[in-house]
Amino acid sequence: MNFFKQKTNILFLFIIFLLVAALSGVSYFSYEKHNDYVAVSSALSDNNSKLNEAQKKIDELNQKIENYDSDVILSEQEKAELRSQLQAALDEKARLEGENSSLKAEIEQLMAKRNELQDSIRLNLVNQADTAEGGICYLTFDDGPSNNTLKILDILDTYGIKATFFVVGTARTEYIPQIVNRGHAIGLHSATHKYDVIYKNVNNYLSDIKHISDIVYEKTGIRTNIMRFPGGSSNKISAQYRKGIMTDLTDRMTSLGYSYFDWNVVSGDADASVVPAETIATNVLSRARGKNSICVLMHDTEKKTTTVEALPTIIEGLSAMGFRFAPLTAESYGFHQTVGN
Ligand SMILES: [Zn+2]
Repeated sequence: MNFFKQKTNILFLFIIFLLVAALSGVSYFSYEKHNDYVAVSSALSDNNSKLNEAQKKIDELNQKIENYDSDVILSEQEKAELRSQLQAALDEKARLEGENSSLKAEIEQLMAKRNELQDSIRLNLVNQADTAEGGICYLTFDDGPSNNTLKILDILDTYGIKATFFVVGTARTEYIPQIVNRGHAIGLHSATHKYDVIYKNVNNYLSDIKHISDIVYEKTGIRTNIMRFPGGSSNKISAQYRKGIMTDLTDRMTSLGYSYFDWNVVSGDADASVVPAETIATNVLSRARGKNSICVLMHDTEKKTTTVEALPTIIEGLSAMGFRFAPLTAESYGFHQTVGN
């Protein structure tokens, strides 16, 4: 074992070991925090319903006192009894309110802690990506699978690289297993991709994402936790259907444990129905220049044949610039754009 004879190699292995240990430690801690969060969350909803009951009781007692005041002549002793019941209910309410606000404070603290941990995991990985020579390239394909998927998969295989597919439920979902079996990442995009439905309210969005999650699960046995919002997190179109929905959804999906991804290089293949292959390739290569790590937005739909044509030039050009290719994982840097609605 020549490898271990060299001190630098042993040191290198030790550093790798430390990095892995640190990362898994942080992830584990983050998971533990998640459990705390769930526990406090359920305590809070328990407390809320008790608080509601206490208020109901107070209302009932007040009503009784009012009725008795007007209709019935009560003895002093009966009045005192009612008043002491009312006082007890008010005390109980005050106690529950105290408990409620401390639970709320606790949950806020846990959320802040969790965000901090997630940021530190991401920052760690970004730093690795940025310091790696030439950085990482995440090729991403939205809106598929389609009649072009197998061609894309063949090209990726030719270069021995992996990419990420954000799939929709209205597409040729029968190709989803191939994407996974050939080593690529699968992400959720949308079941319907209908902006006017999914961005109308949070529940519509959640049931849409559950639907596409179920489709992927049925086809692959995988519950993927990576996703991309139709139009990206910075889309403004959603404001036509509901003000503030992207702010709600980016928070909600993150707290449900999803990692969402935008992009920092646009291929422009959706700028027109058919964009020339040369334009797509030039867009990607020129927009990648000067960036350390990139996430490239492309589309995998039946009409986007020129995206397929441009792919070899894109891959070769990016390789020549020093990029190495990887599929996205939940821990990858999110390339988040600014949420504007
Ligand atoms: Zn899309």
